[in-house]
Amino acid sequence: MLSRAATPSEPRRKHTERVRIAFFSTHSFDRESFDEANARHRHDLHYFDARLGPATSVLARGFPAVCAFVNDQLNATVLTALSAGRTRMIALRSAGFNHVDLRAAQELGLTVSRVPAYSPHAVAEHTVALMLALNRKIHRAYARVREGNFALDGLLGFDLVGRTVGVVGTGKIGSVVARIVTGFGCRVLAYDIAPDPECRAMGVEYVPLDAIWSQSDIITLHTPLTPETRHTVDAKAIARMKPGVMIINTGRGALVDTPALIAALKEGHIGHLGLDVYEEEEQLFFQDLSSHVIQDDVFARLLTFPNVLVTAHQAFFTREALQGISATTLDNISAFEEGRRSGNELY
Ligand code: NAD
Repeated sequence: MLSRAATPSEPRRKHTERVRIAFFSTHSFDRESFDEANARHRHDLHYFDARLGPATSVLARGFPAVCAFVNDQLNATVLTALSAGRTRMIALRSAGFNHVDLRAAQELGLTVSRVPAYSPHAVAEHTVALMLALNRKIHRAYARVREGNFALDGLLGFDLVGRTVGVVGTGKIGSVVARIVTGFGCRVLAYDIAPDPECRAMGVEYVPLDAIWSQSDIITLHTPLTPETRHTVDAKAIARMKPGVMIINTGRGALVDTPALIAALKEGHIGHLGLDVYEEEEQLFFQDLSSHVIQDDVFARLLTFPNVLVTAHQAFFTREALQGISATTLDNISAFEEGRRSGNELY
């Protein structure tokens, strides 16, 4: 049986028992990578397609461990239901944990772990892919050429060399973005509550947030979503930005105020917008809605702009990242089962 985490004085058990784990929001790629990683652990994995929420938490009844993804709901109601169903541990298969009510989890005595680092390169490289595609209008060029339209009008881009890129949050992902764009010959400005000496050593200049807004040609967001970072990019921040600025958000949807972005896109103040995340994405992403009418008018409006490129939370989605996520998630569960800390617990 899944035990509580041991205090340092308690002996460490030698063998990990099989843990029954209920996986929510699973897709074929989750099953493949977790089945492969599980060869080392031999836990008892049960995959549910359903997203975790008040109506589906009953599926986890009797499962000591629950594995959840970014758009699963882990509010107090759901956590209370899981706890009542004898769940003791929540293993997030994500780095972000803004969707978990940590206070409620702690009060219920649940352990919550995450995967703090898998492949920062996956997200950083996708961030740069959005920058390049938007600048050189690859999304439009692809469609045009397939239609036999070889005209160049409307596809004009700019050289990245010498441009200023503002990186908000230079943690694992932001620092890789800074390194990549440094390689393009960009000047890199950064803002972080904890500046990184390695970034400084590669020439990144730490400046106040207002200088990021006023001096950057491209702004990219890599902080976690917290009450402090919610709507970092709002109407006030946008008003300080250069006309024609490019904004990229691969962090979390609510780092930006989407209606404010739309207003600035309509005015032409924002020149390019690349999003891999969206504030209301749990209603949309990770499913095929191509035969449905999109009900979210704000999202639908975003899709009408030629200079907006949206991907559906796929920045993490590389083979290496999936392997890292599944290995660390199962290691976290085995550590809990053995009564030791993995170091990836959230408290
Ligand atoms: P990280 O913890 O390594 O880095 C976050 C950085 O933000 C740190 O340097 C921290 O000091 C800084 N920070 C925190 N609060 C701040 C504040 N109020 N103001 C300024 N700086 C602040 O995290 P990471 O691995 O680089 O990931 C960053 C975020 O990217 C995650 O929290 C997650 O939301 C998002 N993410 C998205 C995807 C995706 O597929 N789109 C995948 C993984 C992570």
